[in-house]
Amino acid sequence: MLEKGAAVGEGSTGASSAVCRTRYSLDEMLVLARDGIDAYRDWQSFTGLKKPRASFHNEGVLWMPGSDRTWADKEHERMQRFGVSSAVLDDQDMQKRFPSMSTCTLAPDLETGETHSCEGGSRNLIELEGGYVDPVDAAQDLVQACQESGVDLYFKTRVADITTQGSRVESISLENRDKIATPLLINASGPWCQQIFDAVGLKVNWELKPVRIQVLYRDIPEEITGDIPVCVDMAGGIYFRTQNRGRQLVVGSVLAEDEEEFVTDPDDFRREHDDEFELSKLHALHHRFPNLPYRGKIRGYCGLYTFNRDDVHPILGPTEIEGFWVANGFSGHGFKLAPAIGSMLAQSITGEKRDFDTDVPLSFFAIDRAPIRLDSKTVLA
Ligand SMILES: Cc1cc2nc3c(=O)[nH]c(=O)nc-3n(C[C@H](O)[C@H](O)[C@H](O)COP(=O)(O)OP(=O)(O)OC[C@H]3O[C@@H](n4cnc5c(N)ncnc54)[C@H](O)[C@@H]3O)c2cc1C
Repeated sequence: MLEKGAAVGEGSTGASSAVCRTRYSLDEMLVLARDGIDAYRDWQSFTGLKKPRASFHNEGVLWMPGSDRTWADKEHERMQRFGVSSAVLDDQDMQKRFPSMSTCTLAPDLETGETHSCEGGSRNLIELEGGYVDPVDAAQDLVQACQESGVDLYFKTRVADITTQGSRVESISLENRDKIATPLLINASGPWCQQIFDAVGLKVNWELKPVRIQVLYRDIPEEITGDIPVCVDMAGGIYFRTQNRGRQLVVGSVLAEDEEEFVTDPDDFRREHDDEFELSKLHALHHRFPNLPYRGKIRGYCGLYTFNRDDVHPILGPTEIEGFWVANGFSGHGFKLAPAIGSMLAQSITGEKRDFDTDVPLSFFAIDRAPIRLDSKTVLA
């Protein structure tokens, strides 16, 4: 494992909201997310560590589809087919479980910030086994698990070039001019993936672009009582979840317009959030939490993820260059999928099947597939 940073979490993973939800439009993605989340839910067995740093925060993932009164029931039925435990919550159920949250089904006016008379009658879906993980803790656990299994890990080690012999990988050149001979190399370099494609000389017919993603967080004041789930508020265009032992609220966007700021150099982008982003997301948040006071400091940060502009799904597996494999373009889904992605790659390379392995075939995400057809190419996919 070659990592240019001093530790793990230098790239997308360090900034990730690490929401672990199963609902996806495609059944294959639903299964992959389910299998990835199973590993996080039983992290100690998965990593083999006696005391892992990361743990699964099983707050449930609540989907609020707004005025669509049939969506939750349809998705609930689908979840059951795949053995994912879920329930449909109406206004009364919501009031009992999440007393601080409004069940209004109307979209807040994000342009003008004007208020409206809220409307009830919601039908929401909750994934009972969903939640989140601290992403850096999880990555550090994997480092330790690898070390304990005898994997060689090199930090502060940047891949600078790749030498091929004919059409096969021969060796990797590092920034310090060392060379490592290898018959197999997996490009898992996140937003820097294009640099590795260039180094090996592979022309990839997918538009994989690092995109700047903003996230806000604030303390949860005493006015907000009761449980808060991980929530995808489709009417408000936001998602939120707790962090820091339930003391803070993290808020991000699920709108396509917030996934459009492409970055040319992944080492050079604005890490502070924008005022405009803060205004519109807070408006949506206050709509969902009517008792949330306007006092309290709002903070934010930005990270990059690698957006596959063609179909928002990753590309995985071998390429036309023998020994050069890809695991790129995760488009905002990569954290929850990671254990299952690792499983698909490992199964293909070793031919072995282990506990926690997924049955989704690697070929589904092959680099030479046709783009997957979707209704909307956003983070929700
Ligand atoms: C703000 C934000 C919110 C997100 N929210 C979610 C979410 O809620 N749920 C979810 O499932 N996913 C989410 N994601 C997406 C998810 O975090 C990513 O898909 C995932 O972390 C990608 O992991 P990766 O290992 O492919 O890339 P990275 O984490 O970027 O890792 C790539 C590593 O490669 C290293 N590297 C790059 N070039 C070289 C080189 N030449 N030599 C050596 N090392 C190199 C980098 O330093 C980096 O550490 C989110 C992402 C962001 C940014």
